[in-house]
Amino acid sequence: MQKYEKLEKIGEGTYGTVFKAKNRDTHEVVALKRVRLDDDDEGVPSSALREICLLKELKHKNIVRLHDVLHSEKKLTLVFEYCDQDLKKYFDSCNGEIDQDTVQSFLYQLLRGLAFCHSNNVLHRDLKPQNLLINKNGELKLADFGLARAFGIPVRFYSAEVVTLWYRPPDVLFGAKMYSTSIDMWSAGCIFAELANAGRPLFPGNDVDDQLKRIFKLLSTPTDDTWPGMSQLPEYKPFPLYQVTTIWQQVVPKLSAKGRDLLQRLLVCNPPGRLSAEEGLQHAYFQDLDPAVKNDSNVLSHGR
Ligand code: ADP
Ligand code: MG
Repeated sequence: MQKYEKLEKIGEGTYGTVFKAKNRDTHEVVALKRVRLDDDDEGVPSSALREICLLKELKHKNIVRLHDVLHSEKKLTLVFEYCDQDLKKYFDSCNGEIDQDTVQSFLYQLLRGLAFCHSNNVLHRDLKPQNLLINKNGELKLADFGLARAFGIPVRFYSAEVVTLWYRPPDVLFGAKMYSTSIDMWSAGCIFAELANAGRPLFPGNDVDDQLKRIFKLLSTPTDDTWPGMSQLPEYKPFPLYQVTTIWQQVVPKLSAKGRDLLQRLLVCNPPGRLSAEEGLQHAYFQDLDPAVKNDSNVLSHGR
């Protein structure tokens, strides 16, 4: 730990406290994440360590780089590439106005990061604006990747504040335990709508029941016909049969018709019906994407 000089605290996360820090030798600025573990007497579980070490190999421009894992006795410190802010803070700073080119660029980068992780069999499972980091040049990077598998899906913060359900798909809300890449695609859909609406969350539920109700009121209540196996899920319970014809133009007024089409293909209750990240990248919504975003250039479109 002597290697890093701690600067200010940047966040209190699901798994621990995050500090901005500087490498004393190279002066490189990093983010240090001190992971607190529920079971402090047990030390760091070896399964968690194995997972974390795998993440060090997950190198992609849309994934926050994990530079190093420092493990001493019972403490675990993860050393990450530093980013300027997270998407939640970005929303707070944009005062309800977001450029649609930025929406397109951010979603493209989100899907590209997801496609890479999914092709490496890594799921996120807790995607939300706070876990998407943004740099001044308009780059978006996924943070907290793979931690859910290493430490379990977070249910509560240390402060006993409940972790948000807003980005959880209906299968997980019904207690599904067999996770697949489709869990992240639902979250991506929710984030897409929130981006398009400059930070207004699509399904801001208060509890599991309310969360599912909000989803079904927009997408219609699924049945065992539209979603085979739904009623077999561990925490399934019947809901009122909403049958709606949603006018998506009212839900995401700023989004183009192609954007609305992509959104609807992500927000599908039956998990196998959701578009994959790779399929999402091929969608017509990205036809007119700034080539600088597509081609790895650092000069990303950033409409502010
Ligand atoms: P969460 O609470 O969403 O799980 P984390 O535990 O990763 O998030 O971290 C808490 C907050 O700290 C993040 O929402 C973000 O604002 C900030 N943060 C985390 N990692 C970094 C990083 N590499 N660079 C800059 N800020 C970060
Ligand atoms: Mg996080």
